[in-house]
Amino acid sequence: MTNNEPAYTRPVATVDNPIEVRDLHKSFGKNQVLMGIDLSVANGEVVAVIGPSGSGKSTLLRCLNRLEEVTSGEVLIVGENIATAKGKDLDAVRQRVGMVFQHFNLFPHMTALENVMLAPTELKKQGKADARSRAFELLERVGLGDKADARPASLSGGQKQRVAIARALAMSPEIMLFDEATSALDPEMVGEVLQVIRDLAASGMTMVLVTHEMGFAREVADRVVFMAEGKVVESGPPTEIFDHPREERTRDFLSKVL
Ligand code: ADP
Ligand code: MG
Repeated sequence: MTNNEPAYTRPVATVDNPIEVRDLHKSFGKNQVLMGIDLSVANGEVVAVIGPSGSGKSTLLRCLNRLEEVTSGEVLIVGENIATAKGKDLDAVRQRVGMVFQHFNLFPHMTALENVMLAPTELKKQGKADARSRAFELLERVGLGDKADARPASLSGGQKQRVAIARALAMSPEIMLFDEATSALDPEMVGEVLQVIRDLAASGMTMVLVTHEMGFAREVADRVVFMAEGKVVESGPPTEIFDHPREERTRDFLSKVL
């Protein structure tokens, strides 16, 4: 990135742990997917969530911004229980959490710039001129200042994902969630997206990343959480989890992916 000025400002959180999950349970019908998750994420901390397919990683992330209704337990986002928030309170707490998905979910009929401007103009009632200049700064920050007028169809996967990250940042979230942000990309495009995530981590953003990129998790995460069958099996610093896992299930998983 050539731009030294941060293109967004992170509001100062008022609590030590902007994410505090307590005894979170989530079922789909009779299928119990999360079975008592406890997770605290400190200000500026980067947590990588790893684990087998179907272990509930995406569901956990989706509960953090209430894309899924919680069955029981608490999900405190900067001190507000998003699991029970309603109406305007829910909108307000949701805006503190940006999310990036595996499939970029950009609006195909809008340019990159319009995609990034949309939420601030619609939700925050930011003026168009302000939203436009800020969206442009964010695109520059992710290395796409020259693609502002491009539509998603003309962008590569890595470029689309960087637009999606800029779009999530446009609401000035205090927390960013990434759900396998590089899994749908061709290998040669993974690096450019990881670089943007790396820059965000360095800027002090509080983040939870679900990832299959074990090398990246080791490098960028302060803490790695290993999930299996709806539970946190173990968590700790990357060196502990990757080099000295305590649990058999963690060892078994790592032997398959490393
Ligand atoms: P992971 O991200 O670790 O692969 P998920 O959280 O996507 O796991 O899924 C965990 C379990 O929850 C799976 O059994 C999946 O089928 C189920 N599940 C996820 N979303 C839904 C849904 N919307 N409706 C029903 N079941 C779901
Ligand atoms: Mg998933």
